[in-house]
Amino acid sequence: MDFIDSLQGLTFQQKRILTEQAQDLILWGGARIEDLWPSDYAPRNKVEAAKVFNSVMAQIDAMRRTPADFSENPASLSEIRTARRTVIEPDFKAPQTIMGRCPCPDESDFLRCCNLKTLDAVQQCAFACSYCSIKNFYSDTTIKVVSDLEGKLAELEVPAGVWHIGTGQSSDSLLLGNDYGTITALSSFARRHPEIIIELKTKSARTDWLNPDIPMNIVSTWSLNAEPVVNNEEHFTASLGARIKAASVCAEAGRPVGFHIHPMVRYRGWEEGYRDLVKKLCDSIDSASVVMVGIGTLTFTKSNLKALRSSRAHTIVTQMPLESIAGKFSYPFEMKKEMFGTLYSYFPQDWKESVFFYLCMEDPALWEPCLGRSYASNAEFEADMKAHYFKKLSDKFHC
Ligand code: SF4
Repeated sequence: MDFIDSLQGLTFQQKRILTEQAQDLILWGGARIEDLWPSDYAPRNKVEAAKVFNSVMAQIDAMRRTPADFSENPASLSEIRTARRTVIEPDFKAPQTIMGRCPCPDESDFLRCCNLKTLDAVQQCAFACSYCSIKNFYSDTTIKVVSDLEGKLAELEVPAGVWHIGTGQSSDSLLLGNDYGTITALSSFARRHPEIIIELKTKSARTDWLNPDIPMNIVSTWSLNAEPVVNNEEHFTASLGARIKAASVCAEAGRPVGFHIHPMVRYRGWEEGYRDLVKKLCDSIDSASVVMVGIGTLTFTKSNLKALRSSRAHTIVTQMPLESIAGKFSYPFEMKKEMFGTLYSYFPQDWKESVFFYLCMEDPALWEPCLGRSYASNAEFEADMKAHYFKKLSDKFHC
């Protein structure tokens, strides 16, 4: 950044920090760093330069603490279009095991983790959510469908104790529906392993994959968000209404469903947006069909932030305090407490009683104030989740 390079009196570290702030300002689409810097800047020494630096940083910090307004800078789809992934490799020879684990550390004081195992049946995604970390896992943009998934799953040695496996950690689980036989292969695996729940996770509105032969231990889940977040940050995904409609078609077909309200974004009007989301959801789906609702928020690694900043594509997702916790960056504790607690308060009592609500990869101290319950360890959380999931499947879906 030429402007920052030209500033006299700043240390290397101050210039580095300023460059990141300037990159974020570009993403937000409002004021630039030049606009915040005094035009008569002429420090006589490092102390005077530091004073100006601190004052500009304070202005940016105030912006981070003020919920961003989507209406001020609507995202331009043409700007994002280049990021859309459309090439499909239908016969990808996966070089190693397709089974993994969610990215949480095994046991941590900083977050509660349910120990989800993952199956990378499809790798890379055609949607373009601004905050997505999955797209950065892969060196190219081709969507790879693992070849002979049925055979691979037949040979898969499932470690003892594994009871839930998600397929939405390497792509969107229903982006390709059953076009390449993924759902058929997963169904065979789920039939052979009634002790395992397979979780599909999607932002699509596809229902053409539905089929009476799919076993009930495959739970379809939709990632939902407040409408302004869907419209401005989750590019090329199905609309909120279309996702809820697809979930209701699935539930009405007698299948178990679930939801992830993740990542919550604190934009201007977030309370109304999430209240509206919960109302639309609960008006459309009977809680009896719903196994779980996972709640979480924006969390970035250093490399996610680096990739986002270098993309220069408009987004407000980094317009937040970016507090560092266990090597990741997210909202401060008090903000999360308000966001998660407010969201949960919108759900009607029948949902609270019959659906398993949880906080995904969040500070254990958030559970009690937000959901009214907590666990002493990850193992306790996992055991309770498992008991609830299987009880719901057996009571309501005879699984
Ligand atoms: S749907 Fe999921 S995998 Fe696809 S771009 Fe969005 S966050 Fe990433």
